[in-house]
Amino acid sequence: MTSIQTLTVLVPAYNEAEVIGTFHRRLSAVLDALPLVSRVLYVDDGSRDGTWALIAALAADDARVQALRLSRNFGKEAAMTAGLDHADGDAVVLIDADLQDPPELIPALLDRAAEGFDVVYATRARRDGETWFKKFTSASFYRAMERLSDTPVPRDTGDFRLMNRRAVQAVNALRERQRFMKGLFAWIGYRQSSLVYDRDARTAGTTKWNYWRLLNLALEGVTSFSTAPLRVASWTGLAAALLSFGYALWVFLKALIWGDPVRGYPTLMVVILFLGGAQLLAIGLIGEYVGRTYAETKRRPLYYVEDRKGDLPASPRE
Ligand code: UDP
Ligand code: MG
Repeated sequence: MTSIQTLTVLVPAYNEAEVIGTFHRRLSAVLDALPLVSRVLYVDDGSRDGTWALIAALAADDARVQALRLSRNFGKEAAMTAGLDHADGDAVVLIDADLQDPPELIPALLDRAAEGFDVVYATRARRDGETWFKKFTSASFYRAMERLSDTPVPRDTGDFRLMNRRAVQAVNALRERQRFMKGLFAWIGYRQSSLVYDRDARTAGTTKWNYWRLLNLALEGVTSFSTAPLRVASWTGLAAALLSFGYALWVFLKALIWGDPVRGYPTLMVVILFLGGAQLLAIGLIGEYVGRTYAETKRRPLYYVEDRKGDLPASPRE
């Protein structure tokens, strides 16, 4: 493995005007102390506040800063993809702009990588400033993913991580639209290691994730890494068929042995409603996958770059 000479710190930012200055100062202090060439690549994900102007100002007086502005808000996953396509360091550190991922951890990530790891991801030991409900839902999500998927996503791990060139190239080769990055990072394999840290509360600004977005991300995570939900339909169908067969036998015997009259209407209703519901559920599930296949087959670019700052060549994938 070649040693790391240059480091790109990749920062996706969407409406982060309130924190980006503080973030850059804290990050610079860390990078200044590192014995290697470093760059900071900001990807402005179509912010509507002054984020791009601030990034442009940073690029103007810090030669280390490279910046991309996407043509609209594509979402964090696409912003990270754009950054990974353009990052030219031997290693890339992915970090949030809101200071929830402490930049001070970067030297430790580098040390661990030097031990011969391709990916070093930071695992949260504690979550400050998050409600018990968010902690609970994210814990349940990781547990469900572990059960359902063939490539388990490491628990309590965000996108904060270091990847070397070979890992970045592997991720860049995956061009699917359903970009559940944590899943992709795990899927590539190679030598991965984790580093435990305490996650801080956001210093300023507000989270861009509401429960609706998180729920959709979770659904994306499950459906892009597992076809297990499709099997739910088969199993429900089989169970319903077995149950109704047993019930039919019971009705038949009752009529034969005790001569009970068969009361048709309620039983018919129950069976029809049950099967109707099960079929709708199954169709919905299949539709979910068909929709994904449709989105994938359009082969649209994952993002468009509107503007760039600093010394940043065009990416062949752009
Ligand atoms: N982000 C982005 N595009 C989006 C939403 C978020 O680039 O559409 C960035 C955001 O600026 C931040 C990081 O992704 O740097 C994490 O976002 P946030 O703090 O809102 O998420 P959380 O920490 O709550 O998971
Ligand atoms: Mg955050």
